[in-house]
Amino acid sequence: MNNISTVGVIGSGTMGNGIAHVFAQNGYHVNLIDIKSEALEKALATIGKNLDRQVSKGILDEQAKADTLNRIATFTNMVEGVSNCDLVVEAATERLDLKMKIFGEMDQHAPDHCILATNTSSISITKLAAATNRPEKVIGMHFMNPVPVMKLVEIINGYATDQAITKTISDLSVKIGKVPAEANDYPGFIANRILMPMINEAIYTLFEGVGDVEEIDTVMKLGMAHPMGPLQLADFIGLDVCLAILKVLHDGFGHPKYAPCPLLVNMVTAGKLGVKTGEGFYDWTHGTKELVVSKTFA
Ligand code: NAD
Repeated sequence: MNNISTVGVIGSGTMGNGIAHVFAQNGYHVNLIDIKSEALEKALATIGKNLDRQVSKGILDEQAKADTLNRIATFTNMVEGVSNCDLVVEAATERLDLKMKIFGEMDQHAPDHCILATNTSSISITKLAAATNRPEKVIGMHFMNPVPVMKLVEIINGYATDQAITKTISDLSVKIGKVPAEANDYPGFIANRILMPMINEAIYTLFEGVGDVEEIDTVMKLGMAHPMGPLQLADFIGLDVCLAILKVLHDGFGHPKYAPCPLLVNMVTAGKLGVKTGEGFYDWTHGTKELVVSKTFA
């Protein structure tokens, strides 16, 4: 049970490529799986680039880089990709129906001893476990972006997760150079339950005209020693993602304190999603953070 040598990663996007990178760098064989072969090619290119950066900083040598890349095999066929895995970390698109389907299929095709983990930011682990016949072996393994850099892995116990599985995943997180923090399966877990209301409150502060974008981010950066302000962070995360997670908190707890700020809803409706669309609270179209001076948010 505790012998993990081959790790499947489902989804090779932003998070999947980082998760594959970290496991491969730490000696694990990785089966990286995506429905799109272009996504797999892009992921390998990104991993190569990120490894180059580690080599130039003296963190890795050329041999370690080559060994890391050699430990990653790619698959567009999930059945094949999970067939010899001891652990699979699902990092596909954040959609409940898609993840339920993936968990059902993983359960059918992965070996009986295989642990099924998910990197979901907001979907219930208990719900995903219900799509399998091994709910005791289903767990949340929530990495942070960018995965090779960020130390935290939030480990989330579903209602039925076996404590021995939690210990295995916690020990494994340490082996790959991360720091685990355990949470139980309630909306937002720990990270997003605290982060998203803070971001939402920053947006309300802007919406009510208490301060402008620059003031709000400066107060939180210089006053609270946060590495970046909450509005800039929201632009990085994606305003659509922030809204979706706030809705999970609002639906899950039924408490008005989680109600998304109308300004956030408006911005998402207008397609101003932050860095990925070029504009959110800041203008990112020139590749740098610039204030949107033409706009009053209140
Ligand atoms: P992404 O859109 O960058 O990548 C998702 C990948 O999944 C795509 O390459 C897509 O082709 C692939 N995919 C879709 N359906 C698939 C299937 N059936 N089988 C295999 N691959 C499939 O998304 P992301 O930002 O990497 O997010 C992935 C997961 O990680 C989500 O659950 C998200 O909530 C979570 N997460 C994201 C972040 C973040 O900052 N981006 C942080 C923590 C957790």
